[in-house]
Amino acid sequence: MGVDSNTLATWLADYDPSQITIGVVASHSSLQILHGARLEGFKTLGIAVGENRRRYYKAFPGAEPDEWLMLENYREMLDYAEWFRKRNVVIIPHGSLVEYLGSTNFRSLQVPTFGNRGILHWESSRDRQRQWLEAGGCTMPKVYTDPHDIDGPVIVKYAGAKGGRGYFIARDYRDFRRNADLEDEFTIQEYALGCRYYLHFFFDPTATDGFQVQGRGSHAGQNLGRLELLSMDRRDEANVDEFYKLGSLRDLREKGIEPSFVVTGNQPVVIRESLLPRAFEMAEGTVSASFELEEGAKGMIGPFCLETIVTDQLEFKVFEISARIVAGSNPFIGGSPYSDINEPFMSTGRRIARSIKKSIADGTLLDILS
Ligand code: AMP
Repeated sequence: MGVDSNTLATWLADYDPSQITIGVVASHSSLQILHGARLEGFKTLGIAVGENRRRYYKAFPGAEPDEWLMLENYREMLDYAEWFRKRNVVIIPHGSLVEYLGSTNFRSLQVPTFGNRGILHWESSRDRQRQWLEAGGCTMPKVYTDPHDIDGPVIVKYAGAKGGRGYFIARDYRDFRRNADLEDEFTIQEYALGCRYYLHFFFDPTATDGFQVQGRGSHAGQNLGRLELLSMDRRDEANVDEFYKLGSLRDLREKGIEPSFVVTGNQPVVIRESLLPRAFEMAEGTVSASFELEEGAKGMIGPFCLETIVTDQLEFKVFEISARIVAGSNPFIGGSPYSDINEPFMSTGRRIARSIKKSIADGTLLDILS
């Protein structure tokens, strides 16, 4: 269940545009979102469970919410929908919100939300992601449906694995058998060897200038909106990042130690400039394909991240997409080498607030919320 555009229009008709409040769950990229909202002149609301969560924002007065909603658990947000709407709240979703609420609850939350909640259906399954990204012209790591076919290093991903926890690497079928939990649903992916780059794009469907995404299929011949590259990171992952220091995979395995992929932080990076045309080509394809995923699809809106590996042949392999703000944009609260070229101090969080501000002025909020 989602929120249809008539319902959204009814809610927004009761909103006072001069009093819109940016609401965010106090986690993930909330410091950036709150800071950016404040820079753009919005009132802010933090949503938290537990005093400990709230207290540490005292250390960051530049991002401290104007108001708090304290809850016993995040699912209570569903019951507070009218309370949010009375306060003209627009919720900015991030990975933790979707995780805490569950994607079905998030999709049916009766509060205006930045971006397109419908896209979550495509983001939430590996098969659908592949269908979408390949339709957009991205090359993805090969998938093995039969473990007997493993003919090189692979990464095995369990369906419920979060933040890289529970993945493992296998070099051949024997390796796979030794480590696999066959009870759980999993995907076997070619282990793409190269360097990881997480590309943070922003798509503004209301802008008619800049790098315009060309429509395809039912939108052929149309300019769909402006694509921007805001920043790029690489994740720190424990303990695979440091694994090489301890010896070979084989030696460590004998001692019962396996590499793990748990995200602990993020580092800013840039890519070779000559790779940017292909990066834009992939992102453009992904955005234009998002409008063709189903009939009447609202398409991508706002921030999204292509998670890629660049091989020594200088080819991108895209292993995942996040269709919302990613925590990898947190190193760029003060701007990035890419966004600084256009406007200093433009974080993804601030870019979201800027988009809402412009849409309030132009009367186009329905185009960027869901
Ligand atoms: P994901 O949950 O898909 O974002 O993956 C978590 C981490 O696993 C990534 O940040 C990479 O370090 C690693 N990874 C995922 N897929 C692949 C792949 N096909 N090849 C190599 N490394 C991968």
